[in-house]
Amino acid sequence: MSANFEVAHILGGLGEGIENLGLNGWQLRTLSAIRRCRTAALGGNVDACDSCGNISISYNSCRNRHCPKCHGHKRKEWIKAREADLLPVPYFHVVFTLPSELNELSLHEPKDV
Ligand SMILES: [Zn+2]
Repeated sequence: MSANFEVAHILGGLGEGIENLGLNGWQLRTLSAIRRCRTAALGGNVDACDSCGNISISYNSCRNRHCPKCHGHKRKEWIKAREADLLPVPYFHVVFTLPSELNELSLHEPKDV
């Protein structure tokens, strides 16, 4: 069963408005790659069967490491590997709020934040 909606569809719905979200260049390039992945925008291949004449079109992938189409399986493998590292003890998920003054910095320098 395939998903009815993909991240690329949502990003496509934003259109040019995506440029006005205040994202940095790296974030915009990533979203652009995900939006264009496996579409005619990235080119593709046409394969035809010599016997039955069936034609199959396959579009190129973006290969961006954040793309769910390209690296969804790698994410699952990574999660499995991390689960193997877990100790047999209880873990706690901690969530906290940063001061709102750091919002802009967190958008542009997420690693530092
Ligand atoms: Zn992709």
